[in-house]
Amino acid sequence: MARIPLVMGNWKLNGSKAFCDSLISELKTALVDVKGCNVAIAPPVMYLAQAENLLTDSKIALGAQNVDVNVQGAFTGDISPVMLKEFGAKYIIIGHSERRTYHKESNEFIAKKFQLLKDAGLTPVLCIGETEAENEAGKTEEVCARQIDAVINTLGVEAFNNAVIAYEPIWAIGTGKSATPAQAQAVHAFIRQHIAKKSSTVAEQVIIQYGGSVNDANAAELFTQPDIDGALVGGASLKAAAFATIVKAA
Ligand code: PGA
Repeated sequence: MARIPLVMGNWKLNGSKAFCDSLISELKTALVDVKGCNVAIAPPVMYLAQAENLLTDSKIALGAQNVDVNVQGAFTGDISPVMLKEFGAKYIIIGHSERRTYHKESNEFIAKKFQLLKDAGLTPVLCIGETEAENEAGKTEEVCARQIDAVINTLGVEAFNNAVIAYEPIWAIGTGKSATPAQAQAVHAFIRQHIAKKSSTVAEQVIIQYGGSVNDANAAELFTQPDIDGALVGGASLKAAAFATIVKAA
């Protein structure tokens, strides 16, 4: 069965009520006839309710950039998977390198988030990827395998049914220096083969997005690669025209 690519915008810590209104209305117009590709946006969590309202009757799905590991109770400041779901979020980013770095999130902690999202019937978008130093030391595959195995070892490979992996080499994020299509394809093929060692069925259907300086000029070529199933887009997702071009290339 052919995989349907997913192009998702990760707004990071950007936006305002007014920005949210204008970007979403432009996206709705630009993407009114989108076909053959799933599209989602992940605004900051403060704007989920607003985005949910604006996206009524639209093909653009809603996502979130993070979730906490607690479900209910005395956990000041936390936001649960069920709350995200109540506001219409479907795809939830976890393990982004910015959270791994700035919030010291470990593979095990991220696996816990993965589990809670699955329990709530949400789709985890698990970000993985190596640093520049790891890349230069030839450790890309080792790092990606470890980040995936943290989920497989606790939840089993079937957890990747209805889940998304975003391969985001850290050296490519926000740097303007995307991986080349061939570089990205090699890692995506490795990731799929790694999962196939446990289940070829799961490996065949799992969506593997590329992320890291994807823009309207480089997306089409990245998407020609057989194992690249769409993109997780940061900077370029803040501009309606650029994001729409990326979606249409998928
Ligand atoms: P970028 O960010 O597209 O701005 O490189 C991607 C991401 O961090 O998800």
